[in-house]
This record gives sequence, structure tokens and C-alpha cells, in this order.
Amino acid sequence: MPEKKIYMDHSATTPVREEVVEAMMPYFSSKFGNASSVHSYGQEAGAVLQDCRERVASLLGACPEDIIFTSGGTESDNLAVKGAVFAKKDVPAGHIITSSIEHHAVLRPCEWFEKRGYEVTRLPVDENGLVNLSDVESALRDDTILVSVMLANNEVGMLQPIREIAGIVADTGAVFHTDAVQAVGKVPVDVEDLGVDMLSLSAHKLYGPKGVGVLYRRGGVRIEPLQVGGHHENRLRAGTENVAGIVGLTRAMELACGSMDAEGKRLSSMRDRLESAIMERIKDVRVNGAGARRLPHMLNVSIQGVEGESMLLLLDSKGIAVSTGSACTSGTLEPSHVLIAMGVPPEVAHGSLRVSMGYINAESEIDYVVDSLCEVVQRLRDMSPTYRSS
Ligand code: PLP
Repeated sequence: MPEKKIYMDHSATTPVREEVVEAMMPYFSSKFGNASSVHSYGQEAGAVLQDCRERVASLLGACPEDIIFTSGGTESDNLAVKGAVFAKKDVPAGHIITSSIEHHAVLRPCEWFEKRGYEVTRLPVDENGLVNLSDVESALRDDTILVSVMLANNEVGMLQPIREIAGIVADTGAVFHTDAVQAVGKVPVDVEDLGVDMLSLSAHKLYGPKGVGVLYRRGGVRIEPLQVGGHHENRLRAGTENVAGIVGLTRAMELACGSMDAEGKRLSSMRDRLESAIMERIKDVRVNGAGARRLPHMLNVSIQGVEGESMLLLLDSKGIAVSTGSACTSGTLEPSHVLIAMGVPPEVAHGSLRVSMGYINAESEIDYVVDSLCEVVQRLRDMSPTYRSS
């Protein structure tokens, strides 16, 4: 076992903050009521649910009745995409616009419709991973039902011009959804300011528990529920609410949003230091998304002459937990669809590393990470039959 343990994979998931665990605990024991029950236990659960709904809404600049609690980012994205398309019964097989760099929780539901006769436009991105506004404009059609473009990418961290895209989509009759799973708690997110119709978020990306999230859905935007049963969540998502999880999500969001400015500055300065040290000490490295506005805590680099999974395992043996891309695409041999869309050659994309820091990381860890990475890269390049330094 390595002496040190450094976790720098916060885009995959985060530890639950102690304050969040504390806030959740009573809802597993003394306050265990079902929010739909009529008696005092139920009333207590119902009241805390309403309180959480109001607090989450206020953090997002939304109305409480527009907050739908879900089981996480994947469900929120599926409910947004499938729910909005199913609700448009008057368009038998219409058109959906998304981007080529979305999370699979958006891409797969779009593919699902494509297989059933809908047309899907996947907007290209430039070398920084950004969608071009004129591409959005020209992709829109009379039968476009939904546009879904993510706020912050989970592999590279670039931030899309969501406000501008929302401005283009407004008044076209299409619904605009953004996946803000990686953005909430890291950068300001206000649904009115962004002008979005729907927005997804997930608690476990912001020091909350796994298995709980939110879909914001602006009042008046029609979506068909995917899960039917009881009358929960305004009849848009049946199932007894995960009260403890929702309490945790709410507390985690408050803490993350409250410390966002200071923590963002601290993490971006650590990220910049890490980035410069890697660029100084390792040759043939490309910083992905370098020219875009990025999440403050994330760095994605492609290192020539190394294979991502090998790099990951060697770093893990030194106690460093990082990622090659999204947790979902790790473990496959496919190069990242995000990097490929950004024009990174597949052989270079294979040598990519995502470092995502969080409040548990300290500046003092950077030197050890850089030293370890230098050693690992050297070792892998020495073994590579093809790598020749430029
Ligand atoms: N969307 C993005 C951008 C993500 O990064 C993730 C998780 O990695 C998800 C959606 C899915 O969220 P969850 O893990 O809560 O289902």
C-alpha cells in the first residue's frame, strides 16, 4: 500500500461533507416518515421536503414548484430529454439538437429516439470544445422539439455559452435543457440568468450523497413523467421521496455555493500551478480546452507516448487517484468522444489524464503529484515501441 493517498477525481464523485452527513442522520432514524403520509411523521417529512425544495430553488434562482427531486444526474437528464420529447405528441418524429460532447446520460436518450425515427443533430465543437452559436442557429428547424447542451463538460471542464444558446432557442418553440451536473457549486448557476427551461444537477458531485439529484423544469414547460405511480413531485416523478438524500443534497448545495468564490480561486490557482509544472517538466503534452473558460478545479492533458489506463494504474500504485476521462467511459478501450470531437487524434486522446481537485486537496500535494507523473510517464515512454520525443 502506498504511504500517501491523494484523491484528485472529484469530477467522478466527492466525499460527503461531515456537516451533510450530520444533517441527514435524523432522517434515517427518528424522522423516518413518508412525506405522503397524513399523520405527524408524514407531516414532518413533508415539511422538510418543502423546506428543501424552497432552499434548492432559491440557490438556483428558481420557483420551488419547478424543482423535481430525482435519483441523480442520469435520471434528471433522461427525464429532461425523454420527458420533453414524449410531451410533444403533436410532432410524431421530430428533431432533437444536442452536442457531440455531452455526457452519455444525454447522448443515449437521444440515440434512443434516433432509433425510433427522430432526427438528432449533434453540434460539433471547436478545438477548445466549444459549440459555435451559428451552428445552433442553423440547426434549429420548425420541428425541433428539444435542444440539450451541457453547461460544464465532465471530462475537460469547458463551459459552454449557455445564456447565448438559450437566447437563440427562446421563442422557437423548442425546449432548452442544460446538464449542469458538473457546474453547480463550482460556478454561478441561476436559471433565470441562464434562460434555460430545464437544468440537471446531482448531489454526489458537490459533496452530497449519491443517488439524489434535481431536474429544474420551468413552470409551463411540458414534460411527460417517465416513472408513474403515486402523485409525488407534482406528478412528474413517482416514488417515495428520498428525504435523507434530499436533506443532504440541500445542505451540500448550500455549502458548495456558499464557499464557491473562495474555493474556486484556491482550486484554480492550484490547477494553474499543476498545469504549468506538467508543461515545464514533461514534453509533448497538450492541455485540452486551454483556450476556453473552464471549471476552476479541473485539468485535462493528453500526454503523447503513454496509454491512459497504464498511467492511471501506475499513479494509483503511488496513492494518486485520477481519471482518464469520465468514470463511465473509463474501462473501455474507446478514446474519449469528447476529445475526438475536439479534434484530438485518437492515439493522443488515449494518453489523456483528468485531474479534478476538491476541498480535501492541499497545495502541498501538487509537487508529489507532478513528481509521480513525471516518473510514470518516463517509465511508460521508455517501454513504448513507438514513442520518439519531438
Ligand atoms: N451528467 C454529467 C455531466 C456527469 O458528469 C454525470 C456523472 O458523471 C452525470 C450526468 C450523471 O450523474 P449521476 O452520476 O448522478 O447519475
